[in-house]
Amino acid sequence: MPNCLFCRIIEGETQSQQVFANDRLVAFKDINPQAPVHILIVPKKHVAALSLAEVEDRDILGEIQLTAKNIAASMKLEGFRLVLNNGRIAGQSVDHIHYHLLGGRRLTWPPG
Ligand code: 5GP
Ligand code: ZN
Repeated sequence: MPNCLFCRIIEGETQSQQVFANDRLVAFKDINPQAPVHILIVPKKHVAALSLAEVEDRDILGEIQLTAKNIAASMKLEGFRLVLNNGRIAGQSVDHIHYHLLGGRRLTWPPG
């Protein structure tokens, strides 16, 4: 998808600190971390937002959750939070589905 930052990261045209990848998804460190661990987990397929996902995307959406808990376990996180922002009003700034894996500090609730 032209001009999509995360597609460029997936293609390796923009650098990132990758922590995991397979044929279907990539995980890399957020450039502006909000916690000691802040990793973005991104499907390789360009879908602009969760609200635009279709039934054919259910496997990758499930795999992202399983990948998140595997990364959290490999980093020995005591707890973690998995967040997706959908839409500008909810804080989405990059129009390619991505989940934030946050951990390494006490996380308060409710989020801002
Ligand atoms: P959103 O606000 O859409 O939920 O999350 C987008 C995230 O992408 C933000 O946390 C932001 O810090 C991160 N981000 C923006 N540009 C880059 C970049 O060039 N590289 C990396 N690794 N993360 C980025
Ligand atoms: Zn994209």
